[in-house]
Parts: sequence; structure tokens; C-alpha cells
Amino acid sequence: MYDPQLATIARTLSEISFPKKFAVEICADCNLTCAMCHQPTMKRPKGKMPFELWKKCADQIAATSPSTECWFSFCGEPLLEPDLLLRILAYGKSVGLRSLNLNTNGVLLSPELAGPILDSGVNLVVFGIDGFSRDTYERIRVGGSRDRLYANVEYLLAARRARRTGPEIQVQFIEMDENEHELEAFCAYWLERGATLKVRNKLSWGGRFETPLCLPPEDRIPCPWAITMMHVFWDGRVPRCSGDTEGEECAGNAWEEPLAVLWQRLGLYRDHHLKHHFDQLPVRCQNCKDWMTGAAKRIRPGETIR
Ligand code: SF4
Ligand code: SF4
Repeated sequence: MYDPQLATIARTLSEISFPKKFAVEICADCNLTCAMCHQPTMKRPKGKMPFELWKKCADQIAATSPSTECWFSFCGEPLLEPDLLLRILAYGKSVGLRSLNLNTNGVLLSPELAGPILDSGVNLVVFGIDGFSRDTYERIRVGGSRDRLYANVEYLLAARRARRTGPEIQVQFIEMDENEHELEAFCAYWLERGATLKVRNKLSWGGRFETPLCLPPEDRIPCPWAITMMHVFWDGRVPRCSGDTEGEECAGNAWEEPLAVLWQRLGLYRDHHLKHHFDQLPVRCQNCKDWMTGAAKRIRPGETIR
């Protein structure tokens, strides 16, 4: 079966000299143990990113490609380190980075933090929510409080509305068997309150989680994650891709080598992807379904849900 959305994505993929997206692991720990996430079983050491490491990365990104999307989250919750996060955002802004994106479970984004976050210059805040009812939310987002999170998001939306300016605020819904019956109510609720909906497929995180995605090998496209995105762990190590959450296939360390050199080293894998030499990719790529994830659907207030 031919997947037209993946075919469209594939046409956008080509070799690039610097990543379009850069994921920064501010903190490799989390306050939740979500059912669809690798974080709760992660074995590598937990820690937080030294500010000096971020400065080193931010200076290079600003000098090479200030439009690179910087995503402040990878294997952990950035708001466990709110002061560090705010410092990191402020520095990114000061050196001219144009796309600062926060991805959070939102449980710790309290009303007290809403002002500093809105003042930080962050361009986008994405809340991982995945449930409308308390029961569904708390079964997926284990350890989170649905009512507290909903209150936090609503407070941030209202504070942004009062200022008449501020970052885009997205509420993310990862479609799963456990929550698909709540998608419609979720969408209606948040669109009415001025949030953008982000609905996406579930990741397999390097093949470790079941997903409903299932495409035949002949439909395989180069993995968009590998072609566009680079990640740095809190200790500076750069994993091969988003599926390499334990850092078993690291390209090197951002403390020791320039980001452009590390990206170039990962070019060996991108070359296999782009030439469709999928059998030459590491074993993880043979089991991982994340190349099938496709683009998230985004619906902004006032737009029609198709
Ligand atoms: S909040 Fe995010 S990082 Fe933490 S367990 Fe859930 S999905 Fe994973
Ligand atoms: S398909 Fe391969 S490159 Fe893509 S995320 Fe999975 S393991 Fe990484």
C-alpha cells in the first residue's frame, strides 16, 4: 500500500549540512512514568545539562543556522529544572536563535512559572496531554494530575490572552487505542480555549514499543528523524538518532567536537537512508517504526477539523 503522506514527506528530504532541528536534553529525569515512553526504564545516568554546554551549542547554532528549531526536551522533563530552562532560553534569545520550543508534560508549569515562561522569548510551548477524562489521562500519563495540568494550561492560555502576544501554545494528543474515543472532546475543549491542537502517531522509540503503524518494507522512506534532527544528551553525547535513547550508537560528544563535525559523521547513516540502502542501517533501524510516524496534524483555533 502506498502512503501519500509519507511520499510527500520523502520528497522534502535531502542531505543538509546542518540539522534543521536540534533536541536539547536539559534534564534526563522525569516526574511522570508515562505508559508509552522509554524514560521510566532508561538505564543511562540521569543528570542536567551544564549551562556552559548549552552556550557552546547555542553559539554554534547561532553562527551557522539561527533558524534551526531548538527543542528543549529529549529524555526527560525540562521543568524539573526551571531556573536552568529559563537561563537557557534567555541565552538562546540573546545570541539570536529564532526558534525556541519547549516540550513539557506541563504538570510543573504552575501559575507562578507562567509569567517567566511568557517573558522568556520562547516561540512555542507544547503540552503532552493525550487524554480528556481524568481516568484516561492518568492511565497514560502515570503520576500526573489531569485537573492540575488542565488548570496550568488554561492559566497559561489566559495569561497569554491578557498580554495579547506570546508563544504559540499547542496541546498534543498522541493517538492510541486507550484514548482515541476522547479525541473529539479533547479537540473541541482546547480549540475553544485558544490552543493549537497537535495530533500525532505513537512512536516506537527505536522499536521498543508497539504502535498501530504498519507499512510494508517497499513503502519505506528515509527516516525523517535521522535526516533532519540532531540530539544532545545532558552529558554532551550525541546519539545516532531519536531511537538511540540509551546512547548506544553515539557519534561523539558536543563538549569535544563541533556540532557540524558530529552532524557530518552521522552523514554515513543519512546516506544509507537517502539511497534506500536500508539493509545497511544498524539493527535498531530494522525493527524501528519511527520512519512511519508521518507529520503531526496541527489545527489552530478557527480552522476546520477535517
Ligand atoms: S512526561 Fe514525557 S519524558 Fe516523562 S515519562 Fe511522560 S512522555 Fe516520557
Ligand atoms: S528508523 Fe532508524 S533512524 Fe529512524 S528513529 Fe528509528 S532507529 Fe532511528
